[in-house]
Amino acid sequence: ASCDIGLIGLAVMGQNLVLNMNDHGFKVAVFNRTVSKVDDFLADEAKGTQIVGAHSIEELVRLLKRPRRVMLMVKAGDTVDQMIDHVLPHLEAGDIIIDGGNSLFTDSNRRTKALAEKGILFIGTGVSGGEEGARFGPSIMPGGNPAAWPHVKDIFQAIAAKVDDGTPCCDWVGEDGAGHYVKMVHNGIEYGDIQLICEAYDLLKRGLGFTPDELHDIFAEWNKGELDSFLIEITAEIFAKKDEDGKPLIDKILDTAGQKGTGKWTAISALDLGQPVTLIGEAVFARCLSALKDERIEASKVLTGPSGVAAPSDRDAFIEDVRRALYCSKIISYAQGYMLLREAGKENHWNLNMGGIALMWRGGCIIRSRFLGKIKEAYDKNHALDNLLLDNFFFGVLNQYQASWRKALVHAIELGIPTPAFTTALAFYDGYRTERLPANLLQAQRDFFGAHTYERIDQPRGKFFHTNWTGRGGRVSSTTYNA
Ligand code: NDP
Repeated sequence: ASCDIGLIGLAVMGQNLVLNMNDHGFKVAVFNRTVSKVDDFLADEAKGTQIVGAHSIEELVRLLKRPRRVMLMVKAGDTVDQMIDHVLPHLEAGDIIIDGGNSLFTDSNRRTKALAEKGILFIGTGVSGGEEGARFGPSIMPGGNPAAWPHVKDIFQAIAAKVDDGTPCCDWVGEDGAGHYVKMVHNGIEYGDIQLICEAYDLLKRGLGFTPDELHDIFAEWNKGELDSFLIEITAEIFAKKDEDGKPLIDKILDTAGQKGTGKWTAISALDLGQPVTLIGEAVFARCLSALKDERIEASKVLTGPSGVAAPSDRDAFIEDVRRALYCSKIISYAQGYMLLREAGKENHWNLNMGGIALMWRGGCIIRSRFLGKIKEAYDKNHALDNLLLDNFFFGVLNQYQASWRKALVHAIELGIPTPAFTTALAFYDGYRTERLPANLLQAQRDFFGAHTYERIDQPRGKFFHTNWTGRGGRVSSTTYNA
């Protein structure tokens, strides 16, 4: 037994992670359900490496040093449970199973507990960065059984992306499904970032009539400043890409998107935990709306909107307004994402390291950006920060840029260009900074129709009152029905 780790699942992520581990001096044994892929991999991509192929799970496990480390990079869902069942009979107490797929965090909660009862240490880890990240440095977000972490730390931190000072984009996230939860929120934030960029694109394209070449220049310029990020960078590249006929490829791509699950899971978790993560929700719904292409074609023939509205006269000022709207909305989205993480940490008793999470996302993953360095700094300054918007860097930007943000949205509304993510971000901002919201009326209505009671501003919190609004109702208030 001479191998440091065994990996099952030689699809795109598995193969690239194995090659990455090999580059860093770890000896990896590999197995795949379709066994021919093991031989193909060894004969091709893994030729000349010290990677060892196995033709059965039993053989794979025999190749591993103790405690054995078996990593699964297979399709998320039932497949993970099936693979765990296949591996288990060959393991002994103290061995480690790692699931690196996009598993739902509740599954990782369950697996951590079930395997702990058998003496097996489980890690559920998020891995982000796609094919390129897996090969040369992904962001890795491990959670699960804390006793497993010291056994995988060296491998994970060696293969992870590094920020400028060499710090790896991988650290222990927390117990049970915490790693997969953080990966899920990462993906939700990715949905939000992508939607914000799409809205900026639409405003510039339809609002000012910019061509893809001009859009390339604008986004390339944006990438040199505060918005410097992987997604802005690839957006600039996308606008420059020409199809075979020399015309911009972007104009030929169908405008419908699907949604694979993690964005939806984030929105569902936000509802479950009562957190107003509105921007990610809108980003998921924007994809749903995009998918209704045939209906939209029909609707475009009968539903009217603004036409003949003058585009903003000062083009440079408008571009800057859109840039600022994008930056402000992005701040709101991350603040909301962090609100969700904080609540999930409380609810699940995970001791989440907020600054550490920003550092893990700083490099390697799809949402990597200069901006995440600012989030890390905010939590370094104050570990117990209640909300990112209360950090002076972030509220400073919002205070300075909000007039532009509003102007960009006024134009969007006048021009009839949908900007659900920009708009919900501003609505959240205005709601969050409002001392007295109209929920007093809401409470009055609920008490009126359902005797649900209300609290009063001139009485201590926690004291409930019921009013007989019509003179016809009784004095009994409701304790059961919560409308
Ligand atoms: P896939 O999600 O396409 O999974 C393919 C792998 O799963 C193959 O090795 C396949 O084996 C194996 N598999 C599928 N069904 C079974 C089964 N019933 N029993 C045993 N093995 C099975 O591969 P990816 O590399 O794209 O992703 C792996 C994991 O990483 C997934 O959870 C994915 O969500 C996650 N991920 C993917 C990213 C990406 O960019 N692709 C990014 C980050 C995470 P076989 O060859 O025999 O079919």
